[in-house]
Amino acid sequence: MSTANIVRKPTREVQIGNLKIGNGNPIAVQSMCATPTRQIDDTLLQIRNLEQAQADIIRIAADNKRDAAALIEIRQQTNANLSVDLQENYRLAAILAPHVEKIRYNPGHLYHHEKSKPWQDKVKYLADIANQHDCAMRVGVNAGSMDPAKLDLFPKEDSIAPMLASALDHCELLDSIGFTRYCVSLKDSDPRKALDAYQRFAAERPEIPLHLGVTEAGMPPEGVDKTRVAFLPLLAQGIGDTLRVSLTLPYADKQQEIIVGKQIIRDAQAGMRPKDDDFDPNKLNIISCPSCSRVENEAFIDLAQKVKARTQHAEQHALSIAVMGCRVNGPGETDDADLGLWCGPNFVNLSRRGEKLGAFAYDEVLDKLDVELNGLIAQQ
Ligand code: SF4
Repeated sequence: MSTANIVRKPTREVQIGNLKIGNGNPIAVQSMCATPTRQIDDTLLQIRNLEQAQADIIRIAADNKRDAAALIEIRQQTNANLSVDLQENYRLAAILAPHVEKIRYNPGHLYHHEKSKPWQDKVKYLADIANQHDCAMRVGVNAGSMDPAKLDLFPKEDSIAPMLASALDHCELLDSIGFTRYCVSLKDSDPRKALDAYQRFAAERPEIPLHLGVTEAGMPPEGVDKTRVAFLPLLAQGIGDTLRVSLTLPYADKQQEIIVGKQIIRDAQAGMRPKDDDFDPNKLNIISCPSCSRVENEAFIDLAQKVKARTQHAEQHALSIAVMGCRVNGPGETDDADLGLWCGPNFVNLSRRGEKLGAFAYDEVLDKLDVELNGLIAQQ
């Protein structure tokens, strides 16, 4: 998307399929399929909707060999620029790289498999595969799934330092082996932290293209407002070569992420800045994931909307509620929230400030949440 009125930071050019990002190329707007990848028809329908909204890149997660087989089948039916999200199973890159244009790995996930193998060897393996198959890469750092070794190096209250250290280490390694066809993201669900992380990274490594994102921004309109808090100032400073707006949406509406992303770029071009009330840390903050291949029940999206409706009475309280679509990332991603919900196929886990309170049926959990929320309000 054209950014005529923004003076962009000069970054390296990175080719992703038929697209180029960085080096002043238009900011690419991307999204990710929220459907289980193995549900091929649902995923293809979502890809078509995203393509109609002119998505430049579409990311699809692959967790296991079944997802990988589905992604290969999906590839046969679309010419979209596809990025595979490797999640923990980094070795799936060997199966999938011939079928995609980009590989996203999360430095915080590399330690899960083959624990004794140094992360450096895993990154070299990925870069080698990307080279062989003409793929770009993204080093996707996420505040909710940090490498524990990096967390140990910094005080707990400084959540940005480990993210930066992780991203910088990975860039240094990739550069040292001559692999420069990559971009970086540093996502946090708090837009002020995401803003800070991207600005600090851009100051240290101005030449590396950045993928902007506020993770788990939640449902519109609040999720859009939160995203604007980070994106508008970054874009105005010329930071950002591609972006993704991460919203909790019904499957049929996923293209809203593209429509909103393009609008934010237009607004940045027009000189708009975030409004003071776009994100107020003194009010209730609902964080919810955009769902991905791992989502365990589509009812998660409905649940997130019900949580929002059911908690309106707490709007003026400085509390956070995190709603996540799966049991793999759910616990880590809800740890910092006052109340956390993460979904299984038939039940929802509930936690208070990181302590698990139990698992409840989808239609029971809202009453439990209400009790806990009122308890926290009474303590304030
Ligand atoms: S919390 Fe689970 S379902 Fe939601 S986006 Fe993260 S991995 Fe996917």
